[in-house]
Amino acid sequence: MSEDPRKIVRSRFLGAAGIGLAAVTMAGTNAGRAVAAPGPVTAAETPEKAIQLLQEGNERFLKGQAVCESLTATRLELTAGQAPFATILGCSDSRVPLETLFDQKPGQLFVVRVAGNIVTDSGLGSIEYGVKVLNTPLVVVLGHSSCGAVDATIKYVANGVTQPGHIMNLVRQIEPAATATEKKPGNWLYNAIAQNVRNNITALTERSTILADAVNAKKILIVGGVYDLHSGRISPLRTLAKA
Ligand SMILES: [Zn+2]
Repeated sequence: MSEDPRKIVRSRFLGAAGIGLAAVTMAGTNAGRAVAAPGPVTAAETPEKAIQLLQEGNERFLKGQAVCESLTATRLELTAGQAPFATILGCSDSRVPLETLFDQKPGQLFVVRVAGNIVTDSGLGSIEYGVKVLNTPLVVVLGHSSCGAVDATIKYVANGVTQPGHIMNLVRQIEPAATATEKKPGNWLYNAIAQNVRNNITALTERSTILADAVNAKKILIVGGVYDLHSGRISPLRTLAKA
């Protein structure tokens, strides 16, 4: 009843500072999941388990049985750190929200999104962080149907249609996928989307020693897939680089 409000404020401040320090320590030592300190534990230690969790989540999304509803408790738990189980490179497209499609809560996925799901220098740094520091056992490159960035690239390859400003940077980086699939049977846009996923899987290990070493050591898998806007389904996640 007569408690000094200044003591309460001080107590709460120290409590918050303590949590912050714990989080920094865990990140700094790269041992977040090895210590018994309070905080999240990864949901998947292996690539295969991570793939299973993502595909089961997509099934729940498809059936309208998503479990990611109340996030308040999760948010508070995550103040102590993060232990995502997959790093995902996806497109910026507003119709492709990765956590929703895979039915995963905050703290589960380490996400990079850029139009056309292409590997950029800063994106590569983020993905390396997901693998090297956060220890995610799986990296996913996810394309999607009706991708505007790939469609713009096809229009450029087919008819020389250019885009304003920095958008052409996206087009030029996707161009090899459009060119490689121009004469292939079937739907050019779909084929280019799939090829673009393959090209960027290859780019991850060609441009990053960290990722190449992790793959060679069998610590991670890098897989690709394509999300279909119409059905809501994500194709089986698998290694596509040599396909
Ligand atoms: Zn897209």
